[in-house]
Amino acid sequence: MAIERTLSIIKPDATRRNLTGKINDKFETAGLSIIATRRLQLTKAQAEAFYAVHSHRPFFGDLVSFMISGPVVAQVLEGENAIMQNRDIMGATDPKKADAGTIRADFAESIEANSVHGSDSPEAAAQEISFFFAGIDITA
Ligand code: UDP
Repeated sequence: MAIERTLSIIKPDATRRNLTGKINDKFETAGLSIIATRRLQLTKAQAEAFYAVHSHRPFFGDLVSFMISGPVVAQVLEGENAIMQNRDIMGATDPKKADAGTIRADFAESIEANSVHGSDSPEAAAQEISFFFAGIDITA
């Protein structure tokens, strides 16, 4: 299996409850290394751009408002099969459907305030890493 990098975001519902450490423990316990990290307050324009793929969905406005409601932690995770492994660690979008032990099952508040984002393909990972870490040379 290939060593991959993926983009993770710890969302405002989780930073508000000081869950960054508990969430990062799940990544590291599963063998993913956190090789870059950045805590920031997204602007409305940044949140709209990041979630542009969802701009025609009915939940888009609420999602953007939620994503700017507090700080996020954007991180690059690296490891074997990191993109799909991170998706497994996150659990299903709706925490009611997420497997036990996943981040969303343990911590998410709702289908919207679901604690984490994770890239869903190699193309998305490359694009999303450059969104948050443009011009930064990430050396593991
Ligand atoms: N979302 C929402 N309502 C929905 C579906 C999604 O508020 O009915 C939000 C939720 O925060 C989710 C994000 O939009 O994480 C992106 O949705 P996607 O389907 O890409 O889910 P993910 O890849 O995050 O599991």
